[in-house]
Amino acid sequence: MAAKVSEIFSIIALTIPSVRVNAFNVSETFKHQTHKRCVFFDRDGVVNRSPGLGYITNFKEFALNDGIGDLLKTVHSFGWLAIIVSSQRCVAKGLIDAKDLASIHGSMQASLIDHYGSKFDAIYVYTGQPGTEHWEKPRPGMIEQACKDHAIDPAGSILVGDQDRDIKMAKNAGIGRTVRVLDVSEKRSNEIIADQTVDSIAEMVVAVREHLA
Ligand SMILES: [Mg+2]
Repeated sequence: MAAKVSEIFSIIALTIPSVRVNAFNVSETFKHQTHKRCVFFDRDGVVNRSPGLGYITNFKEFALNDGIGDLLKTVHSFGWLAIIVSSQRCVAKGLIDAKDLASIHGSMQASLIDHYGSKFDAIYVYTGQPGTEHWEKPRPGMIEQACKDHAIDPAGSILVGDQDRDIKMAKNAGIGRTVRVLDVSEKRSNEIIADQTVDSIAEMVVAVREHLA
């Protein structure tokens, strides 16, 4: 009889871990089948007013572009994610440290929540520091990481940017649609053609809204 009891316990001990493993596998499979869609935003010149050839090193210099807060709410109302992919080499140049950059983004998020009840789902930043080269635009590293972290389908997603490197990064990452906001102030020559080009932030807002449905 004693032997039978121990047999029962060993059966239970063998069964429980296998149940756990199966449950884990099911949820992992489900996670990878959930392909969310995302609007990827370049930061300077798209989300906020461009600092020109310089950098924003203080939240006082950070001004959201008109319409971005409402667009963010609309993106979320359609069940899409909104993620920033930004190059801020000012960190590697020693103009600002990573903590202060995170603080600028924290203030931006708090302000968005206060005024619009929505904030960006994530912010990926290439800082120019050694070892992060695969995140440098136009390499697709930042977008690839975001897609992995948030189960995003790149082909069903959109990127909005103002420079060649933004549009090229999106194409390298397999993003389905690119929208470029023309940066008329800097008169850059644009070599990479986006799927759609608009003249202003207001037109960009309309263009993104049209693609959300
Ligand atoms: Mg930009």
